[in-house]
Amino acid sequence: MEKIANYINGSISSSSSNFLPVFDPSTGEIISEVVLSDESDFINTVKSSEKAFQEWSHVTPLKRSRILSKYKESIEKNIENLAKLVSSEHGKTLDDAKGSVIRGLEVVEFACGIPHLLKGEFSQNVGLNIDTWSTRQPLGITAGITPFNFPAMVPMWMYPISIACGNSFILKPSEKDPSCSIKLAELFSEAGLPDGVFNVIQGDKRIVDQILKHKDISSVSFVGSTPVAKYIYEQSAKNFKKVQALGGAKNHLVVMPDANIDQAVDGIIGAAYGSAGERCMAISVAVAVGNIADNLVEKIHLQSLKLKVAPWTDQDSDMGPVISKEHKKKIEKSISAGISEGAKLIADGRNYKIQGYENGYFLGPTLFDNVTKDMSIYKEEIFGPVLSVVRTSNYEEALNLVNEHPFGNGASIYTSDGEVARHFTTSSKIGMVGVNVPIPVPTAFHSFGGWKQSLFGGHSMHGIEGVHFYTKLKTTTSRWSKSIQAEPEFVMPTN
Ligand code: NAD
Repeated sequence: MEKIANYINGSISSSSSNFLPVFDPSTGEIISEVVLSDESDFINTVKSSEKAFQEWSHVTPLKRSRILSKYKESIEKNIENLAKLVSSEHGKTLDDAKGSVIRGLEVVEFACGIPHLLKGEFSQNVGLNIDTWSTRQPLGITAGITPFNFPAMVPMWMYPISIACGNSFILKPSEKDPSCSIKLAELFSEAGLPDGVFNVIQGDKRIVDQILKHKDISSVSFVGSTPVAKYIYEQSAKNFKKVQALGGAKNHLVVMPDANIDQAVDGIIGAAYGSAGERCMAISVAVAVGNIADNLVEKIHLQSLKLKVAPWTDQDSDMGPVISKEHKKKIEKSISAGISEGAKLIADGRNYKIQGYENGYFLGPTLFDNVTKDMSIYKEEIFGPVLSVVRTSNYEEALNLVNEHPFGNGASIYTSDGEVARHFTTSSKIGMVGVNVPIPVPTAFHSFGGWKQSLFGGHSMHGIEGVHFYTKLKTTTSRWSKSIQAEPEFVMPTN
């Protein structure tokens, strides 16, 4: 059985003899084992990261950028391999996995501009012969803890920018799909990154807790479920670390009566069922405004029947299995709760069987109509291929739904009325908003992050927010003048 270990100081290693199984979600079989790192692994990781930081922080931003450029090329050459690692452990289709690696690659491309991004601000003569300038300096050892659903892209939201800023970075990937992070680290070394600047340590909550407590780790970036995001935020603050913790979501897509219904349906189908609904920007609630509801539900249902649910090895697959047996059961339980709470089940994805893959964690597209805001399927994040349609009589009711929901990651509106669209983008209490696009995921040149229970901390991921998160600001004020008589001053200097 293949053992997946850590990547510490430029080589594969681990001292622990405890392992967790890694499953192929399409077959339910164990395909490898991942190490549950112990204290000695953790101490070695931090030592290596500390030593690497001392040297890396003195490498010029331009030289760092050149290594990132080589890394970009080597990821491009290895996209197929990286995508296969993602699909084989996560289960998503190969094209979707490739797309996610490319979205991660965009962050590397952004980070290549680090000499420009780190340029500070300068003011001449803030007082007589006095100049002030601001620069951004690296934090030290930074850490990232990432979820199962994007084993390449989400880590890549973090480490390329942190490393470009002059930090060292420790990644604790999800224990459910741990292989891709090792390949990403190996490719970075091959591109010329010095040993120890990027370390990967495998494990579960026990390693996370060590990261949260270690005094030499300056910052924690987290992406995962809301209860864990809250815990990470609280513990990081308690241990005086800089923190950004992104949590779960319940993303609404509002369809106005004047919308192009076919475009909206296409958008909803891909966003609700793509990647089996296991995306933090998946649409899990469609809000049908006014008299379009019957037509909308019927069209979504008809389209959903055409989807091919199959393993990633089938090139025609539209959506694969969910991540684990336990998660599949949890989703089935949510569907049962929806029925007993009175929602109208239009399509039932339970008991979905694929010949030859009877033990895989497959679910078919599930559709509920007449969902109301007191139902658990509306309130909770299901993180599976389950779409709820809520009917409202007007736009104001739809906007209230969006704004009153505790999650605030993403929301979209489909309409042909510019005034309504503008009102929605300015008035929605949501971090990432779309107009006539189903999943408003910002590219690497902007920043990614939600509001309310979807993000804890002051910074979103990547873009300029990433540069600000992974650096601290220093402002220097200086005077060079031999002619000025130095005298004690007892009042606040003013200009
Ligand atoms: P998770 O919260 O279970 O795990 C995330 C990470 O935290 C993993 O590395 C895991 O090992 C670790 N972890 C798990 N339990 C822990 C605990 N009790 N204490 C400390 N660490 C712990 O999330 P998941 O199931 O891997 O991923 C799915 C979730 O991630 C969904 O809720 C989804 O919405 C969210 N997500 C959010 C975004 C976003 O940008 N907001 C992006 C992707 C995924």
